[in-house]
Amino acid sequence: MSRGVKNSAVQGESMSHSNAEAIADRQVAQDIGSFDVRCRACPRLAGFLDQIRQDHPDYWAKPVPAFGDRQAWLLIVGLAPGMHGANRSGRPFTGDHAGILLYDTLYRTGFASAPRSVDVADGLVLTGCRITNAVKCLPPQNKPQPAEVAQCNHFLARELASMPQVASVLALGTVAHAAILRALGCPLRTARFAHGAVHALPNGMRLYDSYHCSRYNTQTRRLTDSMFHEVFTKIRADRA
Ligand code: SF4
Repeated sequence: MSRGVKNSAVQGESMSHSNAEAIADRQVAQDIGSFDVRCRACPRLAGFLDQIRQDHPDYWAKPVPAFGDRQAWLLIVGLAPGMHGANRSGRPFTGDHAGILLYDTLYRTGFASAPRSVDVADGLVLTGCRITNAVKCLPPQNKPQPAEVAQCNHFLARELASMPQVASVLALGTVAHAAILRALGCPLRTARFAHGAVHALPNGMRLYDSYHCSRYNTQTRRLTDSMFHEVFTKIRADRA
């Protein structure tokens, strides 16, 4: 069975293993109030996903839930689902280029049980971290509008509120950085984005910045493997 809209467990249909995994991820996100698969609060994005489901009936094509450890102390925040990645698979950073470096780095720094995230049925387990996006729905051209980032921010706020007080948050790019500050009620001037920067936030969390591990950034070498690895190594070291 595909993971299309009609496959929801709430409709009482029998589930494939992959569907069960996707719904388990969704359950974690729902438990912490960070997700609503029926959300259509952004009309442009909801309409875009309606079209995607027609064009690609086997795609997830709904708000994408966070993935990872329910007891995470590190929350990784990306921008938004990619068309043929999270939007297809139903798991953040899974199925397209952007996830290659991320999951490999998570594996090499002890956060992931395997170096690749293939699909929601691959059995991958994250320990100590969870991955989400500032915007839960696929935006056209990978560019959410500011109003959509703002509209989705309450999900991120609830997700951050579920973290322990001494948690760490990693922003992948400037949009995620700003969304995190907004979700925590911090003015933008509280912390200026810079790759490798670490910000002590008023609520006790540490905010780390990295360039986004997008195809563009990795292929132009704006972000190298070693630069990205160093960010995670520092997060680990600071936690020790
Ligand atoms: S981007 Fe967020 S707020 Fe907007 S429709 Fe999707 S889940 Fe809802």
